[in-house]
Amino acid sequence: MDGSWTELADGVLARRHAELDLTTGLVLGTDRALVIDTRGDDVQGAELAAAVRELTALPVLVAITHAHFDHCFGTSAFPGSPVHAQAGCAAAIAVTAAAQRAQWVRHYREAGDTGTADALAGTVPVLPDRPVCPRPGSTHTLDLGGRRVELLHPGPAHTGHDLAVHVPDAAVLFAGDLLENGNPPAVGPDAYPGRWAGALAALLTRGARRYVPGHGDPMTPGEAARQQADLARLARASP
Ligand SMILES: [Zn+2]
Repeated sequence: MDGSWTELADGVLARRHAELDLTTGLVLGTDRALVIDTRGDDVQGAELAAAVRELTALPVLVAITHAHFDHCFGTSAFPGSPVHAQAGCAAAIAVTAAAQRAQWVRHYREAGDTGTADALAGTVPVLPDRPVCPRPGSTHTLDLGGRRVELLHPGPAHTGHDLAVHVPDAAVLFAGDLLENGNPPAVGPDAYPGRWAGALAALLTRGARRYVPGHGDPMTPGEAARQQADLARLARASP
């Protein structure tokens, strides 16, 4: 088994995965369920979909936090589900999928993980079909039945198209890779280190009690604020 659920509030769960220490999410309403991120290939996506189906038979909506393969290449496991992502995400997946696949297939082969390499090599990511939150600060509300969930784009940070998911009634916020617990945030070539701290500060103003990072265990507001302060220091230190 590759994953375990943690219930953060009634019907709001984080799922922790051994592979890349990834954290996905599940929010249950009375009429619909929202899955946050789909893992890194068709096989991993199927594992997540089966785990979701053990908890709920509700129709599933999907939200993708950003275009990095480990968060979104498993979407094929949710056929027929509307897939929400920030307006720039689908194009980012389309443009970068081949290079991401090649880089990480090589990584898994070099690590001797043939199963994951083969699964990723055979995965063509399904693109999000519900573009939302086109501008920094814009939001999009999903009604799950008895519960409203807010999708928001805090501005360029970990990528140019980050999407966070806020569950106000449960005071839980899924931050994607704007937060990482156990590692410093991953500042890749597609990141905006000078703007990241400001975007994360905008998420922290939501006043959640639990912040779910893209990798690692859920964080307290204090832990999230410390990472925000580290990012602000990093931005001041960069030219
Ligand atoms: Zn990422």
